[in-house]
Amino acid sequence: MSKSLSEILFEEGEERGKYYNAVSPPLIQTSNFVFSTVEQMRLALSNEYDYSVYSRGNNPTLAILRHKIAELEGAEDALVFSSGCGAIAAALFSQLRTGDHLVCIRKPYTWVSHFCKVILPKYGITTTFVEEGSAQAYEAACQSNTKLFYLESPNTFTFEITDIRAVAEVARSKGIKTIIDNSYSTPLYQSPLSLGVDLVLHSASKYLSGHSDVVAGVLAGNKEMIRKIYDSEYLAFGAVLPPFEAWLMLRGLRTLEIRLQRSTANAKALIKAIDNHPRIKRIFYPFHAQHPKNDIARSQMKDCSGLFSIELNVDTPDEVILFCNNLKHFLKAVSWGGFESLVDPAITVYDFEHPEANELSWRIVRFYCGLESSEILIDDVLQALNILDNGAKNQQK
Ligand SMILES: *Cc1c(COP(=O)(O)O)cnc(C)c1O
Repeated sequence: MSKSLSEILFEEGEERGKYYNAVSPPLIQTSNFVFSTVEQMRLALSNEYDYSVYSRGNNPTLAILRHKIAELEGAEDALVFSSGCGAIAAALFSQLRTGDHLVCIRKPYTWVSHFCKVILPKYGITTTFVEEGSAQAYEAACQSNTKLFYLESPNTFTFEITDIRAVAEVARSKGIKTIIDNSYSTPLYQSPLSLGVDLVLHSASKYLSGHSDVVAGVLAGNKEMIRKIYDSEYLAFGAVLPPFEAWLMLRGLRTLEIRLQRSTANAKALIKAIDNHPRIKRIFYPFHAQHPKNDIARSQMKDCSGLFSIELNVDTPDEVILFCNNLKHFLKAVSWGGFESLVDPAITVYDFEHPEANELSWRIVRFYCGLESSEILIDDVLQALNILDNGAKNQQK
């Protein structure tokens, strides 16, 4: 039987008898590990996957974390990286070589676009972006040299949904590997490996760490794939998580379930309070009735987390700025998954000189709901929307 969430978060990977029965795991802040004989040293160097030699490879604090992440994702093993992008780089380079082709969902995380459009082409690797996360779209984009499908479901500005099970099935039938960015859902709300995906990645800087004080990434999958990545890209690229960050992440994971519950409840309460507001044209949230793939979202996600977007019903960019600048409790910042609520308007990166080059409308504003009381957050957004209404009335006078 698989382990309960409490067992994973509070017990998995922890061998307290090895460290003075301390409840909190040890921070093994060391680069080097010593050996008493040449024979032992030789054995360890021949198998850095199983032995601690140097902290670019195995470190006991990271090992506890790897056990927990693997168990959370229902994977055989997991690796932890110094950023989500570190995990993405290792995953892409482990699966692709010169002449290969990958199929990627349109509007993935910004730096994934950069990998596909700028970095991979330097090595003769090409990408087709698909408009829709459907089996048909992925299948139609396949070429004889397609080796990898890159999924992100939902993506984190407009929350488009990929039919994970169907896309993974197409991949399996063609011998293509699949990787998915599961940062939005966390392992608690979506289990891609059980839907047939090969590798799951997270920006652990978000919910998994959860306190806006760590940048980290994870990759989970079967032992064979993870070990291959460990023995090559992980050790060679060296984007390993430092022990202190691993320790902070272990601490953050203790409260993952209750943080996620609170963040989710806050987002739902806020959406309910502002739904149908005349200043909001559209809400982007996978479980919202307006979402075009609501059924698929509900069939593969246990729940939706605390991140969503709105499209403001306004005539000018100045109104978007007015709205955001008047929010008192939503901090203006890009990341999410921490304790604090945030607002990130698309207008901050909108190219007004080349409107056709933008993937997102400047009217879109993304919210992340943190752990504050929902009343504070609801009141804050409503008062900022009301300022827009008053501004409109003043203009009419
Ligand atoms: C932040 C983020 C990343 C990148 O992770 P870093 O830890 O910032 O390198 C990747 N995917 C998603 C969905 C993200 O939000």
